[in-house]
Amino acid sequence: MRQYHAVKQQHPQALLLFRLGDFYELFYEDAIAASRELQITLTSRNRERGQPIPMCGVPYHAAENYIARLIRAGYKVALCDQMEEASPGKKLVRREVTRVITPGTATDAQVLEPRENNFLAALRWGTTGGEAGAIGLAYVDVSTGEFRATEFSGPDADTRLRDELQSLRAREILLARPSTLFSETATGTPGSLDGVGGVITRLDDWVFDSDYTQRILQEHFGVAALDGFGLADHEPAAVAAGALLHYLRDTSARSSTAPAALGHINRIRYYEQHNALLLDNVSVRNLELLAPLFTETAEGTGPGRAAPTVLWAVDETVSGMGGRLLRTWIQRPEIHRAEMEARLDAVHELKEHTVAREEIRKELSGVQDLERLTSRINLGVAAPRELLALRQSLARIPLLRSFLASTRSSRLRELHESLDELADVRERIERAIADDPPAQISEAGVIRRGYDAELDELRTLSQKSKQVIAAMEERERKRTGIASLKIRFNQVFGYYLEVSKPNLHLVPNDFERKQTLVNAERFTFPELKEYERKILDADGQILAIERRLFSEVRAWIAGHSGRLRRTAAAVAQLDVLAGFARLAAQRNYARPQFGDSAEMVIVQGRHPVIERLCEDRGERFVPNDLYLNDSSHQILLITGPNMGGKSTYLRQAALIVIMAQMGCFVPAAEARLPITDRIFTRIGASDNLARGRSTFLVEMTEVAAILNSATPSSLVILDEVGRGTSTFDGLSIAWAVVEHLNRATCARTLFATHYHELTELEQLLPGVKNVHVSVRESGADIVFLRRVEPGSADKSYGIEVARLAGIPPEVIERAREVLRRHEKSEHELSAELSPGARDGGEPAQQALFTAIDRTVLDTLRDADLDNLKPLDALNLLAELKKQIK
Ligand code: ADP
Ligand code: MG
Repeated sequence: MRQYHAVKQQHPQALLLFRLGDFYELFYEDAIAASRELQITLTSRNRERGQPIPMCGVPYHAAENYIARLIRAGYKVALCDQMEEASPGKKLVRREVTRVITPGTATDAQVLEPRENNFLAALRWGTTGGEAGAIGLAYVDVSTGEFRATEFSGPDADTRLRDELQSLRAREILLARPSTLFSETATGTPGSLDGVGGVITRLDDWVFDSDYTQRILQEHFGVAALDGFGLADHEPAAVAAGALLHYLRDTSARSSTAPAALGHINRIRYYEQHNALLLDNVSVRNLELLAPLFTETAEGTGPGRAAPTVLWAVDETVSGMGGRLLRTWIQRPEIHRAEMEARLDAVHELKEHTVAREEIRKELSGVQDLERLTSRINLGVAAPRELLALRQSLARIPLLRSFLASTRSSRLRELHESLDELADVRERIERAIADDPPAQISEAGVIRRGYDAELDELRTLSQKSKQVIAAMEERERKRTGIASLKIRFNQVFGYYLEVSKPNLHLVPNDFERKQTLVNAERFTFPELKEYERKILDADGQILAIERRLFSEVRAWIAGHSGRLRRTAAAVAQLDVLAGFARLAAQRNYARPQFGDSAEMVIVQGRHPVIERLCEDRGERFVPNDLYLNDSSHQILLITGPNMGGKSTYLRQAALIVIMAQMGCFVPAAEARLPITDRIFTRIGASDNLARGRSTFLVEMTEVAAILNSATPSSLVILDEVGRGTSTFDGLSIAWAVVEHLNRATCARTLFATHYHELTELEQLLPGVKNVHVSVRESGADIVFLRRVEPGSADKSYGIEVARLAGIPPEVIERAREVLRRHEKSEHELSAELSPGARDGGEPAQQALFTAIDRTVLDTLRDADLDNLKPLDALNLLAELKKQIK
């Protein structure tokens, strides 16, 4: 236990799995946590001495499985192994921690999601000269080698950081130990980390020291300065990146003695958030890009079917690598025209060449996760079958290249160049590794015959000896006359002869008794012993040689990880582009065109997800046009009945922009688009009830973010904003928001609203236009036409929709009556407030704001405050108040 405590002390944050014979045991708190998590029995040790120690264990040979479950549940695990064989003479076996596995550093297929990255992030809160500086963020996916860093500064740094972290969904976040230098919430994590998920790991302060991290980075990348990675002027980002590497060396790299263990992480990229189409997290959620808004099974999806998200609707990739890249592209669409056009050209070409495209996709589906294989090879944890998987995957590359050889678009040409057949790697694996190797390197048969002369010789020896023993069985049977005599082998007793009870009297003198069973006895004799030793010696050597050769091959391949990673990246991109092409061909999507004008034109646009759901139900999706510009059509106000299709129309505009900037064709007959820098999507609070935080405050916070950060190149989607409060409040806020968007923000805006009063803004503001979703009334019923037409809806049809929903007729009738009265009194009210409005002179709203208090304003304007005595001021105030009463 003293040895245990010493080891545990070095790994206080991890569950310590302590090898004792055939088990990994856990003690104390670790045992309690693991037994609960793994549903295994909790026992105790040392009970007789009064201080029972809780304990539980998992069998050594099944450990990987249990470890995977612990990691997925967010635990860190330290594996403490026996470093020497236990033998009777030895008192204490030397033990060491050979591996530390954490959620952020896992590379095991049992832990990872094939189509998602597994990020480990590190954060550096800047504190330069006592002032809060930029926040540095670095993250790495150890399983793929992707390594990036960025910085956040300015007033909304925290919000943007949180957005970024939420979209990364890091499994683990590294922070310096809490210090008093920066503010922390009661839980000990900085406020921006609330709700971003992932386990927090604290590292000593000195790990985040800039001299130390710079040294680590330079050492790791073998460079003299960090300029080449764009990190030179970004100290906080570099510090975070260095701390990450420090942690990786300390954990996953521990098991492997090779210095190249992290060789696949061969570069880091500094990026700026605004170098992509910015999608904040509220928008990612509202647009259902990656996950559905409401998790209950929605109509149109059955059990066992993927939830309808945009990712689901556009994902035609056939490999995990492609799936991961697509996910990144959805979250970070492009803003650079050249890149978008390059992708679109490639998609166009692949779309036209159906046969080549489908052949390419067929080959791609046979390529396994090269990125993750490369990583595991580098980390020294890849098993024999993983090398086989690499060989089989590489075998697809030549054909892929040949399909790309005659392509014309620049991107496909580049991919053709980047795809490396890696014939040398493939050939080496083919030569060295058997066609059907065992799962573990601890078993024999990994290395192919003919690869190593010494190994082959030993194998022959072992085999011959086995044949000799087989012959012995026959011989001894004859000699002793025991027909049932058998020579067997087991791990504990080695080779033995087994003689059943009734035959024991026939056993000759030279047999030595080894073991007694219920129905039989086991013997050996000198010659058998001699061959047994030969076989065991040879087999032991065989295992050792195979292990050495295998490690050599693996290390040799690791030396080619740069080429492997480049090829993997090309495969991933080809997969995404070919998937886009297939999508375009199958779903009749059109190539978007980007122009320099501010005009946004969508002809016959569709919603990529709803369209498919409609088809599944045998319904037709009604396409709609859209026109926006920066002068006459800057803001569209969309009215119409509930269920009329307003939200759908809004979202499809945003989705078409996102898809276009990803380099994907879009669900429309034609789309001419300006390049959009940010998309904001907000839904009125009451629509959000299911999220459980449907406060009006949240709604307003989200709107505030738009008004503060949208630019004229942004696209703003407002869906029933202002709903979370009383009608007049809501209307007034909506009104003011539209005015501000029109005059100050100038972002292209789509605003769906049930406030009919808002449609008056079309007359008052230059860039506002009304459209409505049309319905046809037939008798008391309404039919949704789902067509977007100019002008505002003449009424909101709330009562008709209520009728459709089955509200009892008497309630409907009463509602009609109440509505009529309300409309009447409202008419009277506005007539009273604005005499001009009655005969259709000034628009009512303007009258409202100008007529009432003109005299009050005039009085105020004329007041000479510099010469006003306090008493006069009070009198003036009383007078003004009297007037507005
Ligand atoms: P609103 O926001 O006006 O209440 P939604 O946009 O939520 O209406 O649309 C309600 C439903 O109508 C959608 O779930 C979809 O099934 C259907 N729908 C919407 N737009 C269309 C369309 N253009 N074509 C066919 N069905 C549509
Ligand atoms: Mg709606």
